[in-house]
Amino acid sequence: MRDLDCRPDTATHQKRQTGPSQAASGSRKAHPQPARLPPAIVNGERVLPSRYGAPAPLKRSRHKFIARVTMRMTGSSERQDVNTIDSGALDLTPINESMGAAFPPESLFPDFSPHVFAEAPLVGTMPYYDAEKGKLVSSIHGWTFRLDGKLVLVDTGRGRHQDKGLANAPFFMSLAAAGIAPSDIDMVLLTHLHTDHIKNNTQCIDGRWEPAFRNARYVVGRREYAHWQADGAGLALYPEQASILREAITPIVEAGQLDLIDDDAEVFPGLRAMQVPGHTATQLAFILENGPDTFLFAADSFHHPLQVYRPDWGSSLCEDRATAYRTRMSLLDFCASRNAVLLASHFGGTHAGLIHRRGEGYGFEPIAILARRSLHSKQEVESAGVSRHTA
Ligand SMILES: [Zn+2]
Repeated sequence: MRDLDCRPDTATHQKRQTGPSQAASGSRKAHPQPARLPPAIVNGERVLPSRYGAPAPLKRSRHKFIARVTMRMTGSSERQDVNTIDSGALDLTPINESMGAAFPPESLFPDFSPHVFAEAPLVGTMPYYDAEKGKLVSSIHGWTFRLDGKLVLVDTGRGRHQDKGLANAPFFMSLAAAGIAPSDIDMVLLTHLHTDHIKNNTQCIDGRWEPAFRNARYVVGRREYAHWQADGAGLALYPEQASILREAITPIVEAGQLDLIDDDAEVFPGLRAMQVPGHTATQLAFILENGPDTFLFAADSFHHPLQVYRPDWGSSLCEDRATAYRTRMSLLDFCASRNAVLLASHFGGTHAGLIHRRGEGYGFEPIAILARRSLHSKQEVESAGVSRHTA
């Protein structure tokens, strides 16, 4: 089928950049509809409660940091101390694709004022701001975790260097470094359908786009999926996304691997969706709870940690800045009240942090998350810095 063709003369995807406004153009076309599923998914089969016993207990890591290490970012002499937490049996791991100085602050935040760096020096230095280049640092990454025998991947990046083969594509290299083969992934959660979150969903095989995670269910919000249909508001705003969706979503639908969920669905015990509108009208966050620990995959509700200090600064990449502001305030309150770890899609550094109340507002404390498999080499971590987890 021509739409799934990824031969070189039709594969324009490699030139695309982050964000819908920078994507290559393409024509609109309705996508095949995935099978209708009940509100609580999963996997085309009814999941028996007995398969999901009590979650494995975690160390009370949020309350007891296990180590204090030095974070050293490539290309910077800046150093800062970062607390670390043990994600225990979750084995929570960032899957990195790219990170670097990306946006002049005023281009991403029209209301930007450098005063924020005086109020919050942390976000005005590496690994969050490259003062030499005058640009905010931005990362593209996903996360993997294990819960009750399932290996879950949250978001799949933007397909960087896939044309050189998966063995040379940074996202898949990062997966391999974590000891994960694409076929190991049981579930891919997609927070929203922008290029930089879906483009490694598929790979080019014999001239066709095919699911890259062949054993996975791909999970998308029902309303987010509709948002990007031919008559949806997303494509009306960003028609250039159509060709990307044909490459990264249509093959998943045609392979019968897409599941749609409602905004508040419990994906399975310990993992639930939550609507976080603003960046797209229908974007989802995911809340992961295990023992005493709560992690919030916040999608693009935040683009940079300076928005913790200035949540009223809307991003130029958001569909509705006023709604995005209300969402940010709600998530900041959620994280501060629950001591939840904020996992934002584009933060530099460790990509993770705790949110503290600070006067009338909030502050950001970066943390590094240690996956279980890395704990045996804690010594190595301390000597090498946490960059081995984030490189
Ligand atoms: Zn994004």
